[in-house]
Amino acid sequence: MTKITVAKGDGIGPEIMDATLKIILAAGAQIEIDEIEVGEKVYLAGNTSGIAKESWDSIRNNKVFLKAPITTPQGGGYKSLNVTTRKMLGLYANVRPCTSLYPFVETKHPKLDLVIIRENEEDLYAGIEHQQTDEVVQCLKLVSRPGCEKIIRYAFEYAKSYSRKKVTCFTKDNIMKQTDGLFHEVFDEIGAEYPEIEKEHWIIDIGAAKMADTPEIFDVIVTLNLYGDVLSDVAAQIAGSVGLAGSANIGETYAMFEAIHGSAPRRAGQNVANPSGLLQGAIQMLNHIGQNAIAEKVQNAWLKTLEEGIHTYDIFKEGTSKQKVSTSSFADAVIERLGQTPTTLKAAEYDNHRPLVLPKYKRKEAAHKELQGADLFVHWSGSDPDELAKEFADVKTENLKLAMITNRGIKVWPEGFKETFCTDHWRCRFYSHTGHLPSKQELITLQEKALRKHIDVIKTENLYKFNGKAAYSLGQGQ
Ligand code: NAD
Repeated sequence: MTKITVAKGDGIGPEIMDATLKIILAAGAQIEIDEIEVGEKVYLAGNTSGIAKESWDSIRNNKVFLKAPITTPQGGGYKSLNVTTRKMLGLYANVRPCTSLYPFVETKHPKLDLVIIRENEEDLYAGIEHQQTDEVVQCLKLVSRPGCEKIIRYAFEYAKSYSRKKVTCFTKDNIMKQTDGLFHEVFDEIGAEYPEIEKEHWIIDIGAAKMADTPEIFDVIVTLNLYGDVLSDVAAQIAGSVGLAGSANIGETYAMFEAIHGSAPRRAGQNVANPSGLLQGAIQMLNHIGQNAIAEKVQNAWLKTLEEGIHTYDIFKEGTSKQKVSTSSFADAVIERLGQTPTTLKAAEYDNHRPLVLPKYKRKEAAHKELQGADLFVHWSGSDPDELAKEFADVKTENLKLAMITNRGIKVWPEGFKETFCTDHWRCRFYSHTGHLPSKQELITLQEKALRKHIDVIKTENLYKFNGKAAYSLGQGQ
């Protein structure tokens, strides 16, 4: 018997959770359920995290969490509980399998069979956002080496364990050379340890277009958080419906299982939603807790039900489908078929489905780090960059002086184009003009001199070389 934490969530959540639990319990799942309340009610009761302390205790004790979708109230002040849970519990890998159920579920892609492995803790989802000037807000895209190594190794180990042939990495490293560049670099490094697995890298824009057009050429896809979020909805939808896909959120100690879709509030309380996405999450959970035979039994009964044309409204098609059913009738139909296997679709075999055990991240030796200069970000409402440069004429130190100004990343001084549209957010780059490296004290002196001249510095960013390599982007046009 494994104790698990369950949250029924909001919107269609309670209906699809009841259906899911009824099916897996009927199949003989050896689970003891510890139910917690999360989501809308908790938010609206004044808890901006959407979860009470006792509920965290339940998740941390049980280590396995089956969660229905929840509604994050619109507007400021409410943090997404999904994102918080993934990060607080270190659930770094989000595993989202998508498979075509053709010809039983209508799709333009009969051969689609892919798994998206999405980094789950960092990237733009770090949720670090600031307004810096009247006109400009910023969201920090954080990508770490441990984050990249963990998710990429997970993708290769997943491919190895489940006999997948190829791992494809999607990034936009032609533009984001530092962040996406690191992800790609780590992909090449770790990929080299898996010679038996085919590897490829696509730029995300054309890669996503290719995935939407010919998904059958992909097998395992590993990518950063935001791209993975978008791509997995696309993959599930083109396979048949967002209502069909489940996901596992895996960490070193904890795991959370859910549907990929949201709480679909417009469908709530009508007993019409498809419980399949959450059921797929629950099947991943049963495999995770070692109840593989039960997982297999549920999956085969589910496939058989779909094969027989018993469909909820989202996948119901005149001609292909036989019977349009409610959430609860769909659950009953799956339960009736427990013990059966599909006739045409490939039956599930989960003997080898075990949680992957990965080596712990080992911190690398620190690089040799050399300060080169600094970017001072300035709130300034003027329009002529030459004037801003003049303001900085006396803002210099023994080794540092103004070398470049950019606006939204585009070089506007020296020798900018007057056609370039400028906001009130300016990056003023200071480099050494003596050939000697600056000291940290010089950065403070720069700030003090800027303050005395009433220049509104809203942020500084140090410029470093790591092991002799410049670790910052150039200005566009520099
Ligand atoms: P959604 O996924 O809830 O719904 C989008 C549309 O997809 C629905 O209108 C419905 O037509 C269809 N759909 C989704 N699930 C279905 C199912 N099981 N059966 C049949 N049809 C289904 O997306 P949304 O409307 O953008 O978001 C609604 C709420 O859900 C928001 O508050 C959002 O924050 C939240 N959300 C939660 C999660 C989560 O808990 N993991 C994920 C995404 C969105």
